[in-house]
Amino acid sequence: MTNFFSDYQPKKTVTPTTQKEVQEIIRKANRDRTPLVPVSAGTNLQDTHLPSVKDAIAVDLSQLNDITYFDARNRNAVIEPGVTFSQLEAACEAEGLRTLTAIDVPGNASVLSTYLEMVPLYGWPKYHPWELLTMKGFRADGEPFATGQMAMSQDRPDKYSWGVSLAQVARLYCQAQGTLGIITTAAVTLKTIAPENQVFFFSCKNINQTTRALKAFIATEEPHEIFAANKLYLAELLGQENAADLPPWTIVIVTRGFEKAEIAYKKKDLSALARQLKGELTTRLKGVKNAGEKILAEIKSPTGPSLHGGEDTGWTPVVTIATAEQIKKCSGLFPKNSGALLMPLQAGGCFYYQPDLRYPKGEEKAARKTYQTICGKMLKANVTFPRPSALIAKQVAAHNPSNFKLLKSIKKAVDPHNIMNPKKLGL
Ligand SMILES: Cc1cc2nc3c(=O)[nH]c(=O)nc-3n(C[C@H](O)[C@H](O)[C@H](O)COP(=O)(O)OP(=O)(O)OC[C@H]3O[C@@H](n4cnc5c(N)ncnc54)[C@H](O)[C@@H]3O)c2cc1C
Repeated sequence: MTNFFSDYQPKKTVTPTTQKEVQEIIRKANRDRTPLVPVSAGTNLQDTHLPSVKDAIAVDLSQLNDITYFDARNRNAVIEPGVTFSQLEAACEAEGLRTLTAIDVPGNASVLSTYLEMVPLYGWPKYHPWELLTMKGFRADGEPFATGQMAMSQDRPDKYSWGVSLAQVARLYCQAQGTLGIITTAAVTLKTIAPENQVFFFSCKNINQTTRALKAFIATEEPHEIFAANKLYLAELLGQENAADLPPWTIVIVTRGFEKAEIAYKKKDLSALARQLKGELTTRLKGVKNAGEKILAEIKSPTGPSLHGGEDTGWTPVVTIATAEQIKKCSGLFPKNSGALLMPLQAGGCFYYQPDLRYPKGEEKAARKTYQTICGKMLKANVTFPRPSALIAKQVAAHNPSNFKLLKSIKKAVDPHNIMNPKKLGL
């Protein structure tokens, strides 16, 4: 066992510096029948940058790190896979713009592969679903492909902009964990930095109250960012040593705007709703100094997994989509020392649900067993694992046979020799 999720390391790494080289690498791998695993940054929560088979070659895309087009006026950028959040954020700040970040994804992660892997599962509501516009790259058989306006030959610098409306195929490549090809360019959305930013907190006694309240708050379409965290997870986000003073669950809502009056009326609306939900909307958290500022800083530049694990403690998130009823059924499966993060998806019909496991370093083997047992029980409760880790990929495939059959046929069409990330997602 080399890592929590994978027993394999690549036998070698190649580092292309041009898009043409990426294509040549894929073509050669098809000729030699050598498995490839694309890596844009390797910070992934589920070690998906590691191969699921022996003797794979890692394609390290970190040298393809140009922001090839920065359109401050229309608030979009065209980027390569090696562009990191820190890099894009620096370019944005100079123009009064900001990037869509993701909790638990650190500054050195790839923007492109993060959006590929998390869209459309997860997005701050005000962006959804336009984080990723168009993209291009190479299929697993080495043939070029592109989506939307990037697929048209037009001699205009802004020819990236027709997004998913024209290119639902983009959604196929999202969540593919590098099994269908390598994306070498993508257009992403940026946002304007708002001068007024207010964080609100809503305390909940248990997970049922939390899912109900999240659904009610998201329905107002006012939050720019919204999530709930249990006391342990929230304490870590806030840099608090002790979680004991925090409520069992807290909903965190961020509203942003250009005038104080705009924030004030949103506060009024959300407070009225909070009272209906038999609670209170606050701007402070008892026992925590500058809680709002700390949340804003963590959203701007997430620290990443090091918040939750450490020298002595391992941290493994369980990445799922679940309904309120399923969450109610499954939350008891996790030990008392687990953190948990919850986000409403769409109108709160279901949730991004990320409970986690913590264990002493050195006890990964036992923790793996616990992880697999818990995930098995969650699968039985019909919880969705949208792109499962290597440890449960087979189980998940067996649980969704018709979906898997379809995915397999698509994979076969673009990757006849099964070169690209074989066995990933059970394929
Ligand atoms: C809320 C949330 C939910 C998440 N849910 C999941 C989840 O369900 N499953 C999951 O796997 N990750 C999930 N992630 C992890 C997230 O997607 C990672 O942040 C992301 O993968 C970026 O990591 P990275 O930059 O280190 O990419 P890498 O680790 O380099 O790559 C990530 C994956 O994408 C593939 N890949 C990398 N570059 C390319 C490319 N250019 N073209 C095609 N494929 C490429 C890799 O082979 C690997 O499988 C989630 C993250 C968040 C914040």
